[in-house]
Amino acid sequence: MRRLIVTIDGPAGAGKSTVSKRLAQRLGYRLLDTGAIYRAVALAGRRAGVAWDDGPRLAELAAVLEIDFAFEGDVNRVQLGGEDVSRQIREPEMSQGASLVSALPEVRAALLELQRRLGAQGGVVVEGRDVGTVVFPHAEAKFFLTATVDERARRRFAELTAAGKPVDLDETRREIVERDERDTTRAAAPLRQADDALLIESSALDADGVVDLLERTVRARAAGGP
Ligand code: C5P
Repeated sequence: MRRLIVTIDGPAGAGKSTVSKRLAQRLGYRLLDTGAIYRAVALAGRRAGVAWDDGPRLAELAAVLEIDFAFEGDVNRVQLGGEDVSRQIREPEMSQGASLVSALPEVRAALLELQRRLGAQGGVVVEGRDVGTVVFPHAEAKFFLTATVDERARRRFAELTAAGKPVDLDETRREIVERDERDTTRAAAPLRQADDALLIESSALDADGVVDLLERTVRARAAGGP
């Protein structure tokens, strides 16, 4: 069976993280979480005292970013220069930071080669906003996962609450709308569905239902099917 590059794009809170992780585990593939890379750049900027709108200096940080991913049981750990930053990069502040730094063309350009290198061998599920359109335009299986704004806000709220973060549903919804707006309207690699991506509207589906559908599609492609 061929080991493919599988891309999953979509807006914030569409369930990409859960679905990508389960799909990678079922297929025995690696998981490349490109959002975590933008979050790591935001964190590196904050630590180095570089503002989140300083494209040239953030691009310098991005160019030497030492990022690693490893499954530890069910958790996809993110290491930055050998330090586990999995928790820090998930703070709501870093969500906003990632959204800001990812709008800068210099930062996107600096991270393009890194992402391609990390996924080049195949046998990988790549999750992001532009991974099927820009990073891996020739990926063999592409998906665009979405859900209504209300459903995405509810899911993100449940996720943050379960992680013990004190958040407000209306505030969570506002942040999602704001990130959507920035992700879809930016000039550099805006969020959009690739022409050859399968669109999945997941508002009424649970995560396992979505993963079943994706797994069937990937296995059929890997076996040489449509
Ligand atoms: O997916 P996640 O919420 O972790 O992504 C954080 C931010 O990084 C997103 O809001 C988006 O602005 C940015 N991003 C991006 N391109 C990607 C992945 C994430 O612009 N491929």
